[in-house]
Amino acid sequence: DTAMLEAKRKKSGVVFFDHKLESRVAAEARLRREIDIAVDQGDFCVHFQPIVDTTTLHVLGLEALARWEHDGKLRAPADWIDYAEDSGLIVNIGNMTFRQAFDATERFELPVAVNISARQLAEPSFLVDLTDAWGDRPWERLTIEITESALLHDSLQTASILAQLRERGARIALDDFGTGYNSLARLASLPIDILKIDQSFVRDIGSVAGRAVLQAIVTLATAHGLEIVAEGVERVDELRALVELGVTQAQGNMLGRPAAHLPMR
Ligand code: C2E
Ligand code: MG
Ligand code: MG
Ligand code: MG
Repeated sequence: DTAMLEAKRKKSGVVFFDHKLESRVAAEARLRREIDIAVDQGDFCVHFQPIVDTTTLHVLGLEALARWEHDGKLRAPADWIDYAEDSGLIVNIGNMTFRQAFDATERFELPVAVNISARQLAEPSFLVDLTDAWGDRPWERLTIEITESALLHDSLQTASILAQLRERGARIALDDFGTGYNSLARLASLPIDILKIDQSFVRDIGSVAGRAVLQAIVTLATAHGLEIVAEGVERVDELRALVELGVTQAQGNMLGRPAAHLPMR
């Protein structure tokens, strides 16, 4: 029986293989190799999602979102961003995407927002690389999106980079607001210009409690002179509720999905 077999196995020292675990480890190792190669070959591109005025629906700007071109498919960051950050490859990928993202400011004649991770901000060459890629375009047309965790590091390097960028006229957006640490009380002291409200809040907008939370965020952010952008708007009733709450900018699949090209305006 199994107990006997188990005892024998222990005695003999034979280790049975966990095939499920083995195949997962192998799949991860393969993914890593493929990303390493993709970085060497430059197999990354950028898609753009419009940031829209909630009442006129005019496109106010674009957010650049990285995509990995792999086996004829485009893979969103969820599949590879963790490895890219842990390995530091996000620095190379970021530099690749900057150029494509920044070219879009002329191509589409719109301001552009790029996502920057804590790992990129910590790279000593970050500001030089970014400045080199941005060139002599007007800095007012650039927004840097960072998450709460990047701000929480509170390093001198991060603070100095953000201050320099803002001095030039670029703007800093706090991404996914509300998902991380509750910095509602710290909002006033953060070096930011824009608050991007995470889509989880938008999803809760139908409930009285959800709406009250959003109202509080909007009131506080507005009092501190911050612009507000709602993320992940998928439904017309969500958009309507946002307008009622005084949110003037939004992104989401109902307003425009990320795409390589924008539909004619
Ligand atoms: P994010 O900056 O918060 O970007 C918004 C994400 O929500 C995007 O996912 C976008 O495709 C998705 N989205 C937009 N509208 C809707 C909607 O109506 N419903 C739903 N369910 N989702 C919507 P994506 O492109 O997969 O990017 C995921 C995250 O990866 C981004 O979140 C950002 O944090 C990171 N990321 C993307 N590109 C870059 C990059 O170039 N560099 C760095 N460091 N991070 C990036
Ligand atoms: Mg973002
Ligand atoms: Mg976000
Ligand atoms: Mg996000």
